[in-house]
Amino acid sequence: MALSESFDTNQQLWTSALEQLRNRLSLENFETWLAPVECTAIERESITLRIPNRFFQDWISAHYLELILEALGNELPSGVSKPTQVRWEIDEELKERTQATRMASSPAPAPSKPPPTPEPTTYNLKPKYSFNRFIVGPSNQLAYAASVAAASAPGHRYNPLFLYGGVGLGKTHLMNAMGQEVLLANPAARVLYLSAERFTNEFIWALQNHRINEFRERYRRNCDVLLMDDIQFLAGREQTQEEFFHTFNALYHQDKQIAVTSDVYPQQIPEMQERLVSRFHSGMVADIQSPELDTRIAILKKKAEAEEIDLPSDVATFIAQTVKVNVRELEGTLLRIAVKAELLSRPIDLELAQSTLQPLNRTPERAMSVDEVQQAVCGYFGLKVSDLRSKRRSRNVSFPRMVAMYLCRERLGASYPCLGESFGKDHTTVINAVRKIGSQLEERDERVVEVVDAIERKLGL
Ligand code: ADP
Ligand code: MG
Repeated sequence: MALSESFDTNQQLWTSALEQLRNRLSLENFETWLAPVECTAIERESITLRIPNRFFQDWISAHYLELILEALGNELPSGVSKPTQVRWEIDEELKERTQATRMASSPAPAPSKPPPTPEPTTYNLKPKYSFNRFIVGPSNQLAYAASVAAASAPGHRYNPLFLYGGVGLGKTHLMNAMGQEVLLANPAARVLYLSAERFTNEFIWALQNHRINEFRERYRRNCDVLLMDDIQFLAGREQTQEEFFHTFNALYHQDKQIAVTSDVYPQQIPEMQERLVSRFHSGMVADIQSPELDTRIAILKKKAEAEEIDLPSDVATFIAQTVKVNVRELEGTLLRIAVKAELLSRPIDLELAQSTLQPLNRTPERAMSVDEVQQAVCGYFGLKVSDLRSKRRSRNVSFPRMVAMYLCRERLGASYPCLGESFGKDHTTVINAVRKIGSQLEERDERVVEVVDAIERKLGL
């Protein structure tokens, strides 16, 4: 049953709701996504929004749905049931029409910010990430060999090339090296290196600004080698996946080289279209693992040489024995020690390295179990272990659960499927949780840092 049959009343309610929303969004987002929308019906359970195209539906659903329903609910008199769903009505002329009306009715429209112009596509390649500077060991040999092969015969055997592995293990380095190698052999080659995030942003921008033809021209026609970093960013982004799928096909059919990186195996990327996953599998898939001790030592020595740091062998070995998982952290540690030496005007030696690394030295004395981590997390938050394994999704349970998943994965090295089982969840849920906490830590989110640190100390990690 309709709460209001009248288009005018609906529009009035909608206009008041928009006023609330205007204050909650940036000007640019408001003008782009909500200003062009009309509300054509308000019913007991749902409202109908008229939008210019499908993309509005996806975008609004993903970002503004709750806000919209809440704002509209606030406008409805108490006692009237609040709609909880949205129906969509596509009207392609809508955008022009609302813009024209607004221009006509408001003599001095607020100047809207010029759209962010995407930077001109440059190669964006970092010279220091070359094949020469990449240390090869058993952990990355396959990925390295495949990258070299793809770069020396682009579009042939290793197409597409899919590299996957954890953070800081050299994926971006190899992508850059490929791009440079191709250009070395053929300076006229059109090499595009970019992250999936940037691809997404440019795509959205192009859609909003009617520049989609140029966008497609750039990625489907004017490109000989496409190097797309961190494809997992497309997880759940339906429309961008669709665009990438067509980009992929267009390039592939012209025998252009495509290389993609991800932090997990193709199938494990959550919410990724099956047809894209199967495209990724159609070429070469290579993983990168954490490097072995000898490789870590070699990486440190190479880095020291590049940065002109005088690094004694015993110190290199000590650092490599202490920092195990991540090459970025390994390099960061070396630089910290070098800075400290410089500040103290003393040479780098074992003692200095040990004192710098003391707080980092977190190797547990004995193997720890998932159970112990779960118990420690529950102790900290005052929960029962059964809560962590339950289906409850409220934040006071889901956050501790994510922290526990993160610690089990990062500190115990437990596998995703095994953790899925221990927490009674799908492995993709675990992947998402680990990634989320990981990025919050990387952004130094204070609360998360504090919680993780406190629990780690409790566990003696
Ligand atoms: P990812 O993209 O996998 O997160 P990066 O490619 O950004 O990792 O690597 C992180 C840092 O570690 C970079 O400075 C990179 O040069 C360095 N690195 C990683 N693997 C190697 C390696 N095998 N040899 C030399 N440097 C490496
Ligand atoms: Mg990277």
